[in-house]
Amino acid sequence: MAKKAFDQYRAHVDVVVALLGLSPAEAKVFTEPNRVIEKILKVTIGGEERELSAYRVQFNNARGPYKGGIRFHPGADLDEVKSLAAMMAIKCAVVDIPMGGGKGGVTFDPKGLSKPDIETVSRAFARAFATDLGPLKDVPAPDVYTNGEIMAIMLDEYEKVTGTKAPATFTGKPIELGGIPGRDTATALGGVFVLEAYVSEHGLDSKNLRVAIHGFGNAGATAATLLYERGYKIVGLSDSKGAVMSARGLDPMKFQEVKNQNKSLRDMYCQGSVCDEGLLERESVVVGDPNAVLAMDADIIIPAALDGVITNEVAEEMHAKIILELANGPVTAEADTILEKRGIDIIPDVLANAGGVTVSYFEWEQNIKGTTMTREEVNERLKQVMAKAWQSVSKFAKEHHITYRTAAFALAAKRILAASLTKK
Ligand code: NAD
Repeated sequence: MAKKAFDQYRAHVDVVVALLGLSPAEAKVFTEPNRVIEKILKVTIGGEERELSAYRVQFNNARGPYKGGIRFHPGADLDEVKSLAAMMAIKCAVVDIPMGGGKGGVTFDPKGLSKPDIETVSRAFARAFATDLGPLKDVPAPDVYTNGEIMAIMLDEYEKVTGTKAPATFTGKPIELGGIPGRDTATALGGVFVLEAYVSEHGLDSKNLRVAIHGFGNAGATAATLLYERGYKIVGLSDSKGAVMSARGLDPMKFQEVKNQNKSLRDMYCQGSVCDEGLLERESVVVGDPNAVLAMDADIIIPAALDGVITNEVAEEMHAKIILELANGPVTAEADTILEKRGIDIIPDVLANAGGVTVSYFEWEQNIKGTTMTREEVNERLKQVMAKAWQSVSKFAKEHHITYRTAAFALAAKRILAASLTKK
């Protein structure tokens, strides 16, 4: 049976505990959350009275207020939310921003519900957790099936309940409410900055590098466009319906147009199971299953969709030399070991996708200070943060002969312990 999310996280922590020789009290900082808050939201949605389980896990705030998204998902459970909260603490410490780790969730399926119903759940969450949140306490953001509009609703409810004006309580807000330009592209751009630092450190030339991307949503599609613009050859793209692959190269902008029409990538060539063979041949494109891109003949694979997609079997079949984890937890702990043995470098999620939370921190900071930033300023500052984070992770990995993931976790653990009261 596949390991549960928190066990996957624990596997990485155990390596770091041994590497740094941490005491049981120190190890506990990474294995036990400070606080788990569980509530039942009583709401009327879809014409029915429902009781929804809602969670907020406040994992660690040694370095700053808890920070992390709120997801609305039928599969959101405490184990998953706890592991994501722990990963947020690590992620913020890897990029050295003064925030801790938290995560929230409501277990229900928002698909098919009306906007007023979603608003009802959002307001119920903000009311139920109002005393637990706050600019200097716990700062949520959008996550799976939540967005800026939902953050605006939650902020409105939070401010009503607390009688405050406190935009820094939520990030990922619309610009008019104190949101920040550049948050939409931050996760992908942050990943691209780290990849560029890797490429330059290894003396590679982006023009000779072939990239395949699993997932064509906010992170994956933006990364595809940014890399294409920088001269990388995009040889594979996929979404939940299928993959499109071409050794000659693909233009992601063309596929974005298809996605904008609410179609899937393979709809460029196929209607249902019937594909236009002539068009596929003229464009040298092959269509396949979504996961086909993972084992493609490419130099770089970017998982940007789901967790756990790179299993043992996939890891054995991969041809790439570099994996840039834009998704959270795409490589299972067992597959991680196989990839290490095979000499495949993983730029880990806690570094590769930390651009999103970094720009959320800029948003929080500008709300606290009452200032604003331009997109150019945001992107330039993001570049500096990501480049510095890469340098420290890479240096630590080289010094200790360990993977980038272990180096990132170990650096973060040292920083969190240095800021907490737990001493050896
Ligand atoms: P999204 O919902 O915008 O996009 C997800 C994409 O994955 C969609 O294109 C969907 O079609 C595709 N997908 C779903 N199932 C698939 C499958 N079986 N095979 C291939 N593709 C599939 O989500 P997103 O915001 O881009 O997030 C993607 C990943 O990145 C998640 O793991 C998320 O936690 C992580 N992440 C995102 C951000 C962010 O700021 N967006 C920040 C940090 C981490």
